[in-house]
Amino acid sequence: MSLPLPTTLSPSKVSSFKDCALAFRFSTIDRLPEPPSPAAAKGTLVHKALELLFWDHPQGSRSLAAALDCLGRAWSLLASDAEFTELGLSDEEAAQFRHEADQLLRRYFQLEDPDRIQVLGTELMLQAPLGDMQLRGIIDRLELDPDGRLVVTDYKTGRVPPESREQARLGGVHFYAYLCEKALGVRPARVQLLYLAEPMSISATPSDQSIKGMAVRAQAVWAAVERACQTEDFRPHPSALCGYCAYQAFCPAFGGDPALAVSQRPGSTEAQVGPAEARPDPTQAVRDALRAAGLVGV
Ligand code: SF4
Repeated sequence: MSLPLPTTLSPSKVSSFKDCALAFRFSTIDRLPEPPSPAAAKGTLVHKALELLFWDHPQGSRSLAAALDCLGRAWSLLASDAEFTELGLSDEEAAQFRHEADQLLRRYFQLEDPDRIQVLGTELMLQAPLGDMQLRGIIDRLELDPDGRLVVTDYKTGRVPPESREQARLGGVHFYAYLCEKALGVRPARVQLLYLAEPMSISATPSDQSIKGMAVRAQAVWAAVERACQTEDFRPHPSALCGYCAYQAFCPAFGGDPALAVSQRPGSTEAQVGPAEARPDPTQAVRDALRAAGLVGV
């Protein structure tokens, strides 16, 4: 008896497994539902507002007023969605939630001028093989900078992780660089994380060495996931993150029984076994734009 392997590995899955193998199992293998959180819903709201800003407003018209108008439209979409309604916020708490999203969007303008950005794609799902697995990631924004070079941007609405987690926070950066190189044929000149709450940006320049290092680390994580699935051995790793974990009730570190989690599964896990489903290629428009920009390899 062994547990089914996940079909893909993403930056969030890699860090989830490294943070706590048992929480990874509950989330990715057992697919236990997680209660909605204000932090995640706020991230959804701000990401949507920025997406609307870049698609509905051409360069030269992306003002703060335009962004706040986009936030209002994004809010009207989220306010009736289960991701928000299930939070059960009071009117006062909802007003604070909305205010904090507003502040995040205002701070975004301290990090960059959106009018300078030639956007190629937003919320772009890229997938590429690595050995016998598929890497998959959703890129918040892909663009050309003023010098015509490819740049990946990832918005972060939480706090900047401490220095001790430097590798973890940059792991996703190199993951995205790998996906661009393999799926689009172009290595980004820069990958940047925009931490809106601070506000602060962290950027990295992908290199042969950084991409190779990411690939080695991802393969090591995948091998560990395979072993854990074969032996059904996903161990808890108590840490400060336990305070945010939705699975404490099933965790032996908190007196819970992982076997009881099985009854919480939303249904058969069959659907996640086997190769990832065929999808229309969402990157063709981006490839065309890269070709038009004269970037090689597309
Ligand atoms: S409570 Fe902590 S140790 Fe237990 S599954 Fe969650 S993160 Fe892991």
